[in-house]
Amino acid sequence: MKIVVPIKRVVDYNIKPRVKPDGSGVETTGVKMSMNPFDEIAVEEAVRLKEKGVATEVVVVSVGVQQAQDTLRTAMAMGADRAVLVLSEESPEPLAVAKVLKVIVAKEDPGLVILGKQAIDDDMNATGQMLAGLLGWGQGTFAGNVEVADGKVKVSREIDGGTEDVSLVLPAIVTADLRLNEPRYASLPNIMKAKKKPLETLNVADLGVDTTRRLTIVSVAEPAERKAGIKVETVSELVEKLRNEAKVI
Ligand code: AMP
Repeated sequence: MKIVVPIKRVVDYNIKPRVKPDGSGVETTGVKMSMNPFDEIAVEEAVRLKEKGVATEVVVVSVGVQQAQDTLRTAMAMGADRAVLVLSEESPEPLAVAKVLKVIVAKEDPGLVILGKQAIDDDMNATGQMLAGLLGWGQGTFAGNVEVADGKVKVSREIDGGTEDVSLVLPAIVTADLRLNEPRYASLPNIMKAKKKPLETLNVADLGVDTTRRLTIVSVAEPAERKAGIKVETVSELVEKLRNEAKVI
């Protein structure tokens, strides 16, 4: 069974994002970019399924700018076998990505597609669900545990107040949540090996997919600055301030 893992190149999670001066979005020029953290978890899960003998090949796919090939190489250094880069604008909308992924899925014929639950730049949390809808496949989103056996995948989903177990007939869509696993670091020898793994580049325009933007960003702004806190000396002073200043008790 082949596993396809879509991965997105996003502003590194350690970087404090800066809003562009014209308020049209978040600054990405000259900013450290990395693999979306949930996609690292998705890659790790796919590689583990291959190591267990459940999967035979792991293919990573990114839709984005040329530099996304660095992100794909990182995924291959973690253990993915090969990569597909679909060149498009930076940060395409989830529906456009899902349509592109549908074409890739038709070509690759995987048993499982494992995505991240959301990309930390736009926090859309939509691509996996849209892809499942376009393909008519079952979906196990927010996966905290994944087990593949007998043509099915059992997914333990993280939901409010606990977990929910679903069993999906393969092929299926899974989206990775934080607790699914702890992604490995790529070792130097594996980083070197990844440079020689196959990376195919396609153009979004050649895939016959309508990627017209349907969302308009009206404006992007920094959150309001929070007032600094104060230190109180005693519990009675704290109670007095909560009662008379904050008026919460
Ligand atoms: P989102 O719906 O944008 O929050 O993204 C959810 C997941 O879809 C991500 O964690 C990735 O696995 C995948 N994804 C989103 N955008 C892209 C992209 N441009 N290229 C490849 N995969 C993507």
